[in-house]
Amino acid sequence: MGERMVQVQLATYFTDVPQLNLKTNEDNDCISKDQIKKKKKHKDYQPNYFLSIPITNKEITKGIKILQNSIIRQDKRLAQAMVGDGSFHITLLVMQLLNEDEVNVGIDALWELKPLIEEILQGKHLTLPFQGVDSFRNEIGFVKLAEGDHMNPLLEIAETAKRTFQAKGILAGESRSFKPHLTFMKLSKAPWLRKRGVKKIDPELYEKFLSHRFGEETLYRIDLCSMVKKKQSDGYYHCESSVVIGE
Ligand code: AMP
Repeated sequence: MGERMVQVQLATYFTDVPQLNLKTNEDNDCISKDQIKKKKKHKDYQPNYFLSIPITNKEITKGIKILQNSIIRQDKRLAQAMVGDGSFHITLLVMQLLNEDEVNVGIDALWELKPLIEEILQGKHLTLPFQGVDSFRNEIGFVKLAEGDHMNPLLEIAETAKRTFQAKGILAGESRSFKPHLTFMKLSKAPWLRKRGVKKIDPELYEKFLSHRFGEETLYRIDLCSMVKKKQSDGYYHCESSVVIGE
């Protein structure tokens, strides 16, 4: 009996060893470093691929060029923060694909998604009108998607994409809600600007464009793109696969 007691005490001691690394979370629960790592990995994974709706309407790209040039005229340093006109897009979903096998699963998911989108659209075209300018935290400047009847089907498409990719075991989506936007500048493209005093995008720089109509894009293609691979010669992202909607 006494020996058993010692064994039990030893077992307790050993299972308690990892508690040397104990921390408390916001709710004051004790959590080990391993648990923190796991939690972080799941919550804050680093996406390296995304589903893109390319923006190709020349009226929109011309309008954005005029907006970018107007900002650059006011502050030349910001030229380095501008997104190139070959890479304008709407991000539908971000995800992590770590090797060729995972990329292939991603391609399969994209092809599974195509008929689901066609079912949502029921043979109709999805037209996306762009109007006005806004920013995320004054660090990322984007052209806004106008409100209207296109919003619900687009949100449904984004939600269906997330479900389709997650069902295949892909780490996809973000904790924040989907806010469709067309990025035209981001300070993260030129981090050295911080040292030169550029910490924020002043909204006055784009005030003339706050209600400007940039034009409409009809959804006709969705691409599975890499965030990190070298861009194509036309400035657009490296695509692993593309589906045409309604064909
Ligand atoms: P994208 O145009 O999708 O390449 O996104 C440009 C940047 O905007 C990325 O750094 C995103 O992390 C960021 N972003 C996207 N959606 C949001 C959001 N809802 N709130 C804040 N930042 C966002």
